[in-house]
Amino acid sequence: MKYDYIIIGGSVAGSICAYNLSRKGYRCLVLEQHSPNYEKICGGGISFKALELLAQAGVEVEPLFALDSKAISGHIIYKGGSVTEKVYKDGEVSLGIQRNLFDGFLRKQAKKMGAEFCFEHKVQNVVFDGEKNNVDEYSGNQLIWATGARTLEGKIPQGQSIGISGQVKGRTDLNEDRFYYWYYDPAYESKYFWVFPIGKNLWNVGLWSRQAFPEMRYDYEGCLEKCFLPHLKDEWDYLRNPKAEFLGHYDQRKDHVGCFGVGDFAGTCNQVNGGGIIGAIQSALAITI
Ligand SMILES: Cc1cc2nc3c(=O)[nH]c(=O)nc-3n(C[C@H](O)[C@H](O)[C@H](O)COP(=O)(O)OP(=O)(O)OC[C@H]3O[C@@H](n4cnc5c(N)ncnc54)[C@H](O)[C@@H]3O)c2cc1C
Repeated sequence: MKYDYIIIGGSVAGSICAYNLSRKGYRCLVLEQHSPNYEKICGGGISFKALELLAQAGVEVEPLFALDSKAISGHIIYKGGSVTEKVYKDGEVSLGIQRNLFDGFLRKQAKKMGAEFCFEHKVQNVVFDGEKNNVDEYSGNQLIWATGARTLEGKIPQGQSIGISGQVKGRTDLNEDRFYYWYYDPAYESKYFWVFPIGKNLWNVGLWSRQAFPEMRYDYEGCLEKCFLPHLKDEWDYLRNPKAEFLGHYDQRKDHVGCFGVGDFAGTCNQVNGGGIIGAIQSALAITI
């Protein structure tokens, strides 16, 4: 079976490539190592700019708000002893959501356009034979890497940032249409603790740092204790236990001559706050124009 495009990685960047290319009539296959229900380690904060990009690309984003998600109309930042609240302009609505729901939605858009997805397929072998790209048992004229911050072998390139995130189920007294950020270390601005509403009584809590540091897990526990737990009204539990993962700032295209790469693979994560979904969408749309 020969495809016009084989896309390795079926998350944000890969699904948007598949959506846009299939829409243009190309035959696309996306190979994804995880199952469709896999919950990626993420904050689940999708900014209104990311949603605007999707809408500009022809994706109807309203159904995302009908899922078990939260419409977000502002954010609250705790920094250096002061609190700043920003309310977004009219029409600027961000989204808090579990990644399996968001990624599932994007894959559905790509499938509607005719893209094929193959899940639980971890790509092991990529060979260009002078004419076509042979990716395990499949072959395609073009190949797009959308594999995220780690290398194909699972290694972490220099320069990646790191986040630790968990999902907490529980009722709180927090505002359910705000993203919360705590810049808890006055000596180092490039890390923060967040609490994002992502569903009914569901909160994504986590800590991002531009550089990995040994006490990260300890800082996460401390912030959880000080910033989040006092807001809980009664019993709580983790829906997903906290786990750490890297974010893509290093452009891995440098290591694969002439390759097409998008999203975290191409180092498109924001250096200042770690947000990567906008960059993943932008880069995918840019190479599939
Ligand atoms: C803790 C944490 C919190 C974050 N919070 C936010 C946030 O709130 N908002 C935001 O905008 N960004 C956030 N980010 C960043 C965001 O998650 C990424 O920038 C975004 O997911 C990048 O999308 P991508 O498609 O490039 O890569 P990924 O989402 O990493 O997708 C890569 C895909 O490739 C697949 N893959 C990899 N290797 C193979 C292989 N060999 N074969 C088959 N498939 C493979 C993976 O399974 C994965 O599905 C966060 C990141 C972390 C780690």
